[in-house]
Amino acid sequence: MSTAYDVIVIGAGPAGYHAAIRAAQLGLNTAIVEKWLGKDNKPAYGGTCLNVGCIPSKALLEASHKFVEARDHFDEIGIRVKEVTADVPAIMARKDEVVGNLTKGVAGLLKTNGVSTYEGTAKLGAGRKITFTAHDGSSEELNAGSVIIATGSVPVEIPPCPLTDDLIVDSTGALEFQEVPDRLGVIGAGIIGLELGSVWNRLGSEVVLLEALEDFLPSADQQIAKEAAKQFKKQGMDVRLGTRVTSTEVKDGKVTVQYTDADGDKSEVFDKVIVAVGRRPYTEELLAADSGVTMDERGFVFVNDVCLTDAPGVYAVGDVVRGPMLAHKGMEEGIMVAERIAGQKPLVNYDLVPSVVYTHPEIAWVGKAEQTLKSEGVDYQVGSFPMAASGRAMANNDTDGVIKVIADKETDRILGIHIIGAQASEIIAEAVIAMEFGASAEDLGLTMFAHPTLSEALHEAALAVSGHAIHVANRKRKK
Ligand code: FAD
Ligand code: AMP
Repeated sequence: MSTAYDVIVIGAGPAGYHAAIRAAQLGLNTAIVEKWLGKDNKPAYGGTCLNVGCIPSKALLEASHKFVEARDHFDEIGIRVKEVTADVPAIMARKDEVVGNLTKGVAGLLKTNGVSTYEGTAKLGAGRKITFTAHDGSSEELNAGSVIIATGSVPVEIPPCPLTDDLIVDSTGALEFQEVPDRLGVIGAGIIGLELGSVWNRLGSEVVLLEALEDFLPSADQQIAKEAAKQFKKQGMDVRLGTRVTSTEVKDGKVTVQYTDADGDKSEVFDKVIVAVGRRPYTEELLAADSGVTMDERGFVFVNDVCLTDAPGVYAVGDVVRGPMLAHKGMEEGIMVAERIAGQKPLVNYDLVPSVVYTHPEIAWVGKAEQTLKSEGVDYQVGSFPMAASGRAMANNDTDGVIKVIADKETDRILGIHIIGAQASEIIAEAVIAMEFGASAEDLGLTMFAHPTLSEALHEAALAVSGHAIHVANRKRKK
C-alpha cells in the first residue's frame, strides 16, 4: 500500500519548507520528509539554516557584537560600566533557545498549512516513488505527482584537516564552544570563516585566518573588500592570504597547523581550529539507481533554469543545485517551483541575489562588482558616499564604511550596489528593490529617504553618480 500526494518535498530546510508551504497554500495535497535530529535527538525542522547555520551564527554574532560595544565603546558615548564579562555558556543557551523556538515554529507553520510531515529519510526511485524510512526503522512507500528535492548541503572536509571531537571542528562545532579559545585558527576566509572568526575574536580569542586564495573576498567589489580587510585588521583578526594548509596534528590538547605561503612551509599552534573551506551538495542515499535524476560535474543535482531535473516531475531547489549557497536563493526557488507545479509561470531573478557578510561592519552587495564590469568592458559611472559623512552614523557612534552605486554610463541604469557599514544587511534590501524595478541612479536620487537614517547614505551615493551628493564634495560636479 502506498500513500499518494500531489507534491512531496524532501528536506525541510529553507528551500524545502518554503516549497511545501507555498504548494499547500495553492491547494496541493503536500507532504514533506525531514530526517534532521536536533541536539536533544528529537526531529527538528529548518535544516542547516535554522539548526546550525544562519540563525545560530547570527545569534552569536549579535551577542558578541553587543559585548564589544559594552566593553570597548559604551565609554565613548558616556555610559560607564564597571566590568563587562561574556558568559559563554549563557550566550550558547540563548542561541539554542532562539534555534528551538524557530525550528518549532517551522513545524507549526507546516501543520497550520496542512502539510503532512514524515520524520525520517526519503529515497527517490523511478516514477516519483519514494521509500520513506522512519527514525525507528519502519518504512513505507509514498507516491507523488511532483517531487521537490531540497536536501541541502554539508561542510566540505579536506584531507589535511580531519575533524576531531572538539579541537578541529567544522562550522557546526564552532557554534558550540563552551569557552573562549586563547588561540583560534580558521581555515578558509570565506563568509562563514569570517563570521565565525569574528564571533570568537570579539569574545577574546586571538584569531588567525589561513586562506589559500591571494584575493580577499574575491566575489565582493574589490574596493569594498579592501576596506573590509582594513577593518578586520583593526579588530585584531590576522587574515593571511595565499596560505594553503597542508596538514594538521593534534598533540597535548593543541593543534599544529602546517601551511605553505609564498615564503615556504610554516606552522602555527592553536587551541582550536575551525575548518570553513566551503560546503558541498548533500545527496547521500537519496537516489535509487533508477531515479532518473542526474548530477553535474561538481556533484550538484542537475536542473534547468526553472529547477526541473532530468527526471519528469522531479524538481530540485536550494543548496543541492547550482548557484550561490544562500538560504534566500533556495527560498525563492522553492516558491517558484511550487507555483510552477500549480500551473503558474514565475521565474527567479538570479542576477539579483543579494550577498551579505554579517561581520561588523557588515558587507552586502547585489549586482555586478566594479572589477567585473571593467573586465566585461562595460562603460559605467560610480557614486560613493562614506558612512563617516552620515549624520545618523555619527549619532550612532558607528561611522566605518562606504556605499557605492554603479550605474551604466549611457542609460544610468543601476548595475551594482556595494555596501560596507553598520546594517548593510538591511540597506541592501532597498538596493535589490530598486534594481528589481530597473531603477536608474537618478530614480534612486529622486526617491525620498527618511532622515536621519543610515539608508540616506544610499541616497547620497546614488546622487553622487551624477555629481549631486549633498554631504560630500563631488569629484565631478554637474549642473
Ligand atoms: P538545508 O538547510 O541544508 O536543508 C536540507 C534538509 O534536508 C536538512 O534538514 C536535511 O536533514 C534534509 N535531508 C537531506 N537528505 C534527506 C533525505 N534523504 N530525507 C529527508 N531529509 C533529508 N545563508 C544565508 O542566506 N544567510 C546566512 O546568514 C547564512 N549563514 C550561514 C552560517 C553558517 C554557519 C552556515 C553553515 C550556513 C549559512 N548559510 C547562510 C547557508 C544556509 O544555511 C544554506 O544556504 C541553507 O540552509 C540551504 O537551504 P536548503 O533548504 O537548500 O538546505
Ligand atoms: P567559501 O567557499 O566562501 O565558504 O570559502 C571557503 C574558503 O576556503 C575559500 O576561499 C577557499 O579558498 C579556502 N580554502 C580551501 N582549502 C583551503 C586550504 N587547504 N587552506 C586554506 N584555505 C583553503
